[in-house]
Amino acid sequence: MDAHRSHASTSPTTALRLESALALLHHAGQGAPAGVPGSVAWLQELIDRLVDLSSRDPLTGLANRRFFELALAREVDRVARSGESALLLVVDIDHFKRINDTYGHAVGDQVIRAVSEALAVTVRPMDLVARIGGEEFAIVLPNCPAAFGPQVAARVRHRVARTVMPLFDGGSVTVTVSVGGAFAQQWVRSSAELWMERADRQLYRAKAEGRDRVCLEASAVSSVTAEEKGMLYGTSQFQDLE
Ligand code: GH3
Ligand code: MG
Ligand code: MG
Repeated sequence: MDAHRSHASTSPTTALRLESALALLHHAGQGAPAGVPGSVAWLQELIDRLVDLSSRDPLTGLANRRFFELALAREVDRVARSGESALLLVVDIDHFKRINDTYGHAVGDQVIRAVSEALAVTVRPMDLVARIGGEEFAIVLPNCPAAFGPQVAARVRHRVARTVMPLFDGGSVTVTVSVGGAFAQQWVRSSAELWMERADRQLYRAKAEGRDRVCLEASAVSSVTAEEKGMLYGTSQFQDLE
């Protein structure tokens, strides 16, 4: 009887956690799920909303870094299996510190939101746009042919540059972005980290060459690292292969 009662009743800890979950949703501007509180459908809706919340960046509504890293790892596996071509772009707002310093943090936030919207409307629904840092974004484009890479990266850059953000005083502000990109390695079992490093290197190059530009890795094949070769062959006997 005691065992039955303790199983059926809601313990104070469980009740507290549900309250915390609802408070999290409330803080994110969402109400409680519809339906009968505690019912299976209600709990499922609560869980779905929490999962959604944990994968989104609160300022922009884009995927957050955690979700992006998981998606990138999945894409690396998919490319290795299917041999499809996939592009990763990293996008960083140029001289963003000046925006904050000149107009204040609130305008800075507004600019980050406007850039995120410009990125989201520029790519296909199947592409993932994420905010991975303060003023840094990443776009994963599955099934993206090599010839399409420069076009899509240029479109991203131009779309942001054309976005005019109105200010409270009647003025307006525009920003530029630097874009770095690399295709996933199709013939090696690589890793999300290495893919990201290659795209980041291109972003660094775009910044160093003057900003407001796109740099894409020239040739996927020539830039395969020793580590990636090791992943392909798996054992030390092939590690001396060039
Ligand atoms: P670069 O062209 O080399 O990228 O220069 P930058 O000024 O954009 O780069 P830096 O990394 O020096 O500055 C980024 C700034 O972004 C510094 C930081 O205060 C600001 N920042 C980061 N996150 C946020 C945010 O959520 N909101 C606002 N308003 N500013 C942010
Ligand atoms: Mg920047
Ligand atoms: Mg940055």
